Amino acid sequence: MLTKVISQANIDHLRKWTDRAEKVVIVSHVSPDGDAIGSSLGLCHYLESQGKTVNVIVPNAFPDFLRWMPGAKDILRYGKYKEFADGLIAGADVIFCLDFNALKRLDRMADAVAASPARKAMIDHHPDPEDFCRIVISHPEISSTSELIFRLICRMGDFDEMTKECAECVYTGMMTDTGGFTFNSNNSEIYFIISELLSKGIDKDAIYRRVYNTYSEGRMRLMGFVLYEKLHVFPGFNAALITLTYAEQQRFNYIKGDSEGFVNIPLSIKGVRLSAFLREDRDSDMIKISLRSVGDFPCNRMAAEFFGGGGHLNASGGEFYGTMDEAVVRFKTALVKFQEELTKK
Ligand code: 5GP
Ligand code: MN
Repeated sequence: MLTKVISQANIDHLRKWTDRAEKVVIVSHVSPDGDAIGSSLGLCHYLESQGKTVNVIVPNAFPDFLRWMPGAKDILRYGKYKEFADGLIAGADVIFCLDFNALKRLDRMADAVAASPARKAMIDHHPDPEDFCRIVISHPEISSTSELIFRLICRMGDFDEMTKECAECVYTGMMTDTGGFTFNSNNSEIYFIISELLSKGIDKDAIYRRVYNTYSEGRMRLMGFVLYEKLHVFPGFNAALITLTYAEQQRFNYIKGDSEGFVNIPLSIKGVRLSAFLREDRDSDMIKISLRSVGDFPCNRMAAEFFGGGGHLNASGGEFYGTMDEAVVRFKTALVKFQEELTKK
């Protein structure tokens, strides 16, 4: 049995909205990850089974390794179909905001969502949600938004109607936001949920292979290059850093998603508690920062204080406007500021 995580008031309120709604739009954050896509498609399948017209809209492209997901082909990219998407957003009865806690995470889509007269509901697991939705289902203690979607469907009394396609999407989000159940995944109820998803006929081993074992040769060689040439370990700070410039990306025929997960690798070095990955992003003219930590080191605080970002205790990110060298200097300043917390026994 599952603990009741989502409040009864929120369930009742949502039921009223969904009973009345015909047109639903689901939006998620810029550079959508497995949980963003998994939770959005999971909810989409569920609401479609309830007879709703549902559109999933994301700000920009998502990685190739998520394209197999049922329904992924119908996801609208705002950057590509802006006018059409604007119409859907403005005309929706309800907009679900999944896997993000602040409008700015919608990037260029934020204004359209803010301006829409639709009722808005947030379902998310990032701390400190901003106030832009009437219904706020925010549970930082839950390891993925996809898990919240599973819990929502159960609480609506519709587990029996959950399709295999829906279960595949939910599982993918739960798996990717916990690194294949290797972090943030000690809550025993996660494994009860997996068991329930398996009862829907999902092939979790195949899902793992589709997500994690479909990399290109270019990515493999890029990984070798960055680990050999671009990894800096700071033993006095229990930290590691990988940087990747635009020129280096070009050298390895980089496509979006090729550096996914690189930031996690240095955490397997003994003693490393914080890992940072800095990538020059020419599309957005900035350096994208990814931070990961183990234990209780709050990498989201470092992201917020030094890189205008945020996220979770152990997985966060931010942005830096300037050169790579300047970004590295900023990171080193952050290390000094956080040295005590990084090195405490
Ligand atoms: P990633 O390193 O995979 O891009 O991001 C990890 C987590 O950090 C995301 O799930 C999100 O919570 C957070 N994050 C990443 N980039 C940003 C950012 O620019 N701003 C904020 N507020 N959070 C971010
Ligand atoms: Mn998530």
